[in-house]
Amino acid sequence: MNNKYEAVIGLEVHAQLLTESKAFCGCSTKFGNSPNSNVCPICLGHPGVLPVLNKKVVEFTIKIGLATDCKINERSIFARKNYFYPDLPKGYQISQYEEPICEHGSITVTLSSGEEKKIGITRIHMEEDAGKSIHDQGLDTLVDVNRCGVPLIEIVSEPDMRSAEEAYLYLSKIKQLVQYLEICDGNMEEGSLRCDANVSVRLKGAKEFGTKREIKNMNSFRNVERAINFEIESQIDILEDGGKIIQQTLLWDADLNEALPMRSKEEAHDYRYFPEPDLLPVVVSEEWKSEIENNLPELPEVRKIRMIEKYKLPVYDAELLTQSKPIADYYENVIAVTGDYKTASNWVMTEVLKVINEEKVAIKDFPVAAGDLGELINLINEGTISSKIAKEIFPVMLNEKKKPSVIVKEKNLVQISDTGEIEKIIKQILDKSTQEVQMYIDGKDKVFGFFVGQVMKETKGKANPKLVNELLRESLEKLKN
Ligand code: ADP
Ligand code: ZN
Ligand code: MG
Repeated sequence: MNNKYEAVIGLEVHAQLLTESKAFCGCSTKFGNSPNSNVCPICLGHPGVLPVLNKKVVEFTIKIGLATDCKINERSIFARKNYFYPDLPKGYQISQYEEPICEHGSITVTLSSGEEKKIGITRIHMEEDAGKSIHDQGLDTLVDVNRCGVPLIEIVSEPDMRSAEEAYLYLSKIKQLVQYLEICDGNMEEGSLRCDANVSVRLKGAKEFGTKREIKNMNSFRNVERAINFEIESQIDILEDGGKIIQQTLLWDADLNEALPMRSKEEAHDYRYFPEPDLLPVVVSEEWKSEIENNLPELPEVRKIRMIEKYKLPVYDAELLTQSKPIADYYENVIAVTGDYKTASNWVMTEVLKVINEEKVAIKDFPVAAGDLGELINLINEGTISSKIAKEIFPVMLNEKKKPSVIVKEKNLVQISDTGEIEKIIKQILDKSTQEVQMYIDGKDKVFGFFVGQVMKETKGKANPKLVNELLRESLEKLKN
């Protein structure tokens, strides 16, 4: 990036709430049902019908509001946002405009430099989703309105971010929070978490913000980062060429790796917002707010600190493990079986996360049960198997879904810790390796590794490595004299 400039970024994040029924009617929110089956006169916007607010929607929004230090307004109101689109049969979306439910919050992220940065949240409001237009079936455009009326929250940040990295971290934190609160599954690829990025650039030191452009349609965290970086560079190029930025909405094209103009930016007045006449103001009593606050689950920061203190984990481990609630849960299920907290953390951070990332499986579908991993660690610590053998057993556990103790028996992998047996093997090897023995006697200590390798080969990796080292050293030193 041309370092004369500084980027300014604000994000608008939509999260689909995990309620059973829609925001203003009793229809199911279930994903994947046959098109246009989760509908009723209310979410289809038939004349004369009346919406009824789903209490869970308010409760879930209060949860995220509390978790982001927002002020929860005692009174908030719904508004109609009017626009015409085939996937919006009502012709308007029920949203909140003036007087949203949550305001003035923040999220703190830790930058790669280690510095902490607080990013302001302007507001969090409730709204309903629109349906889906389907253009890729080779026919005319099709419309599925199952999603109409599915509850969303929109989290609007202050223009406080200064780089794609900060935006990425902020978005990750939102994902983490909604998952911990169990109000949204946080899946960007499937569209349950969506992010629009507002980007502008200005000369460093300038007081005023530059004109922003908004990028939509980024369906992964990586794409958000890429799109923002792309947009920062484009805007700098335009300004350097003497051009001007005009307010615009761009669509990110993940295949082309570039953002293409979609339309000139609409303004609030284009939507003819007005208070929704069919819904009463939402009133959140002090008692209800406290009740929700008292029942909030343990949030990631608190869990991280607890893991550091209780399990004596390094900050790095605790940070990584609590990144996602299901991973943290998995880890705590492993250590319900083994008391070796640090080894358990190592296994989860390396072997488990490697498979999760490579195979893109969700931890809830991970083939190795947490308890079985705990048992595997116990087998190492009890001396039944070496850690090297454990690394070989793990893929078998993955593929054959067997318990580690069963695999150890079936494949005869019990570690050899019998001193006599190991000494016998050492003697055989030393007897036939006269040349290498002479090298050792001559002080070429490097040859020691050769003997260790031979013993391991002879025992198919089963010899207790610590014993092998000790006994070999003893036998060889004796030969020196
Ligand atoms: P609009 O009225 O165009 O929707 P808002 O003021 O509501 O704009 O802001 C929408 C989002 O854009 C917010 O997240 C805000 O932080 C961000 N934003 C506002 N101004 C700028 C700017 N100059 N550069 C980057 N982001 C901005
Ligand atoms: Zn309905
Ligand atoms: Mg706005």
